[in-house]
This record gives sequence, structure tokens and C-alpha cells, in this order.
Amino acid sequence: MSTILFNEIVFGPIKSRRLGISLGVNLLPLHGKWCNFDCVYCECGFNKDGVQDRVLPTKQQVMQALESKLANHDSTIGKIDTVTFSGNGEPTLHPDFHEIIFKTLELRDLYAKEAKVSVLTNGSRIGDPKVAEALLKVDNAIIKIDSAFEESVKLIDRPLFNYSTDKIVKELELFRGKFVLQTMFLRGNTPDGVIDNTVKEEVEAWYNLVLKTGPREVMIYTIDRETPVTDLQKVLVGELELIALPLRARGYKVTVSG
Ligand code: SF4
Repeated sequence: MSTILFNEIVFGPIKSRRLGISLGVNLLPLHGKWCNFDCVYCECGFNKDGVQDRVLPTKQQVMQALESKLANHDSTIGKIDTVTFSGNGEPTLHPDFHEIIFKTLELRDLYAKEAKVSVLTNGSRIGDPKVAEALLKVDNAIIKIDSAFEESVKLIDRPLFNYSTDKIVKELELFRGKFVLQTMFLRGNTPDGVIDNTVKEEVEAWYNLVLKTGPREVMIYTIDRETPVTDLQKVLVGELELIALPLRARGYKVTVSG
């Protein structure tokens, strides 16, 4: 298994399948993963493999690293499309997430006015008012929900807390029309059972979840790189396109990445 840890606070820019030229910000440990999910497809590996480093960068270190990258960006490699909070785990777990986001927006306005600020989050902390305030301020709050069924979320994302679909749907009321919903479609054998979130029952429940939460955009994708659980299969782009069709027919912007 070869998984990726980002050994820098600010990394890239890299070409992202979904976001374009992306300057990544990692608010998590540099040599270990820290997340309150443990997804079977996580490119950072399993939580159990990343416990040797639990040191989070300070807000000062983050701001210095980001300012230095933005100020010294070589424009011959292209403009930065987005500053993206992702990295080695769940960015909203950082205790200074709120302040870091507001300072990032200031730096963006100073050095890269046209760049978006994006946050990839598993949504577990959107019920925290400060986290919600920061996410509502960025250009792209990209919130992951991989299934409308809790049993499937438990198989795919393996949350380390008592995950509730009703709770996240309720918390998303504040985000109606202001967030991007991100869903990974996949099938295969997980340590806790067989999963296939492309079957009719799953996709229909997921459509209902989309209608209930009202994202401004939907991103659907499938496995791209090696995953910690090896017995998983990619879903074909054609299948993803078929899943996207009914939502597009209702006027949703849906992007598909295979
Ligand atoms: S939520 Fe993201 S960082 Fe956390 S385990 Fe899943 S894929 Fe990895």
C-alpha cells in the first residue's frame, strides 16, 4: 500500500482533478494522519498507521508558510486557482481553524485576489458555530457525505463517533445553497462488510439527501489512487455520469471525476 502524507504545512501548487491549480494547506501533523473518520479509501492511510506524530502546526506557522508561498509564487507555472485546506486529516479539528481561515482570506486578498479558498471537510464539526462561520465565509466549503444510510457511512467512512445522518442534514440547513456536496462512489469489501453505494436503493436515498440539503454544487468521484483497504473497486465514469443525470435535469451543477 502506498499512501500519501503531506510533509509540509503548505504544499504544491498541485493540479487537482476537481479544483484546478491548488495550493494545499495542511493543518494536521506533518508525519501522521489525524482524523475523526477512518475512511476505507483515505489517501493518507489508516488512523492507526499515523499515530507517531500528533503535533499540529501553530497558527503563526501556518500563516508564515502560506504568506511565503503566496508572495513567492512563480506565475509562469500558472495562476493559483484555489488555496485548499485538506492535508493529513480533517482540517476543522485544528483548534484555531476559525482564525486561520479569516487570516487566509486576508492573505488571499493581498496576494492572489482571484484565487478561491476551499476547505475539504467530512462535515463532522459543522455544528460548531465557529467552524460553521468560517466555512460559510470561504468560497468552497466542500462537505463530504458518502451515503444517506448510516450503516453505509459506517462501512465506508468509519467515523470514530456516533455519526447521525439526521444530525448532519439538520446542521446543513445553515448551508443551503452555500456548500458543495462531495460524494465518493465505490464498491468492494471493507473490513466490516461489503459496500456498494451505486445500487438503486443507495442512489435514490442519496438523491433525496441532495434535495433535502440543497448544495450549490455536487461533486461525485471515485477512487483514483491506492487505498488502505485494497479490495475496493473504482466505479466507471459512465456510471457516475448516469448517477449525475437526474440531478442535472433538476438544474444542479454536478461534476464527475473518474
Ligand atoms: S475524512 Fe478525509 S482525511 Fe478523514 S479519513 Fe476520510 S478521507 Fe481521510
